[in-house]
Amino acid sequence: MAVHAHFGRLRFPGEGWLRMQVCVVGAGIVGLTGAYFLAREGHDVTVLESGEDVARGASFANGAQLSYSYVAPLADPSVLPHLPAWLLSSDSALRYVPRPDLRQWRWCMAFLRACRTATSNRTALELLQLGALSRAALHELVERESIDFSHVRNGKLVVYRDAHEFGLARKKVELLAEGGASQSALDRNGCIEVEPSLEFAGATIVGGIHTPSEEAGDCLQFCRALANVLRDRYRVRILTGTPVLGWVRQGGQVAAARIAEGEVRADAFVLSAGTSSVDLAEGLGLRLPIYPLTGYSLTAAAVPDRAPGINVTDLHRKVVYARLGEQLRVAGMVEITGADETQRDTRLATLIRHVKEIFPLAADYERAQTWCGHRPATPDSKPLVGATKYSNVWLNTGHGALGFTLACGTARLLTEVLHGRQTSVDAGAYSLSRLS
Ligand SMILES: Cc1cc2nc3c(=O)[nH]c(=O)nc-3n(C[C@H](O)[C@H](O)[C@H](O)COP(=O)(O)OP(=O)(O)OC[C@H]3O[C@@H](n4cnc5c(N)ncnc54)[C@H](O)[C@@H]3O)c2cc1C
Repeated sequence: MAVHAHFGRLRFPGEGWLRMQVCVVGAGIVGLTGAYFLAREGHDVTVLESGEDVARGASFANGAQLSYSYVAPLADPSVLPHLPAWLLSSDSALRYVPRPDLRQWRWCMAFLRACRTATSNRTALELLQLGALSRAALHELVERESIDFSHVRNGKLVVYRDAHEFGLARKKVELLAEGGASQSALDRNGCIEVEPSLEFAGATIVGGIHTPSEEAGDCLQFCRALANVLRDRYRVRILTGTPVLGWVRQGGQVAAARIAEGEVRADAFVLSAGTSSVDLAEGLGLRLPIYPLTGYSLTAAAVPDRAPGINVTDLHRKVVYARLGEQLRVAGMVEITGADETQRDTRLATLIRHVKEIFPLAADYERAQTWCGHRPATPDSKPLVGATKYSNVWLNTGHGALGFTLACGTARLLTEVLHGRQTSVDAGAYSLSRLS
């Protein structure tokens, strides 16, 4: 079978731009939002998804945070003193297990380079700009298409248990204020005033950073609703159960994506396949510096008045909390161990133990639904958006720990670079060449 889009190439009135057949690979939050903004430009979009439904990868049960201002990259000088613990402690929130895997070693070397203070500060300011673009794009999309995804604009409190780390965080607040973020540092009592259910953890908390403008929502619900909008209102074809197996190359271009049933031809291809983007790109001779950072989540019935009302990050434990309607979503742990799920039960037990320390009465943890996912992370925590050496292959992938937050922003940026327009943020900051 050869799937062809049905529209011919048309010139848009006054724009000098061609209506294209665009094939997006991957129907997670990044692929779907990319497809949406491309379809709105009038392109004829097909999405190929290997799973039986949309959002079967990292977008399935993530931490639900729309963290537009709290964009601290993982690569930060403050992580360096913790490296021995990552290696030695199986209980640590961040865990690193060295593998005989060149991809892992290359990624770790680049990660260490990105931990330099100047690089980390620049990244935080760049992500703040992208976050602002993303927030505006998501609000516009949600309003225009009436997407329901348990969206709350309830703010975020990041709590600290270590005075030195809290001191560094206060400095970051000053830095991000220059970039337009509105955050405030609170002492222990201030934290409990903002979120009374922190009373059990009170003694262990030294302070917190409060960002009233942060939001949360259910990423899976968002993806499903957006997929329906794409099919019904924008005539986007979403072919689930259709993995891309390889490529048909022609000169400096890709002519088609190979699928089990044949080929899908298109004028342009966008790679948004999460951690699998690496293998797909390798089939084109492209090396993407993306590594899976494994994390876990649980979703449990919230106990009213006991569960946090605001989004909370327990920085020491690297655990985030969000209320999604009647439920509490908890997500955490960062493992640099490859896409390894063999420790799943042990790590989930550790996560539940950590959660009970801070919010012991907040939810029915015994009956929680558990999940394990792989963040498609670049070493510097910035996504890869833009051109490749193929004139018709584009990247929109590598969103790491912030994919839900940044997806609408990178979708906007993708459409801008693809059309050769002036970009809303510095496109060079997200190009593949920055990491090569
Ligand atoms: C534990 C955890 C907590 C997180 N918490 C947050 C949070 O609070 N806030 C936030 O902003 N972000 C969070 N994230 C990050 C966020 O979930 C990811 O960055 C985001 O989901 C990545 O989206 P994606 O579309 O790039 O990848 P995915 O959601 O993984 O989607 C990629 C899709 O491509 C498909 N695919 C793969 N290979 C092929 C192929 N060959 N052919 C066709 N299709 C293919 C997959 O099936 C998948 O559906 C969290 C992640 C984890 C793991």
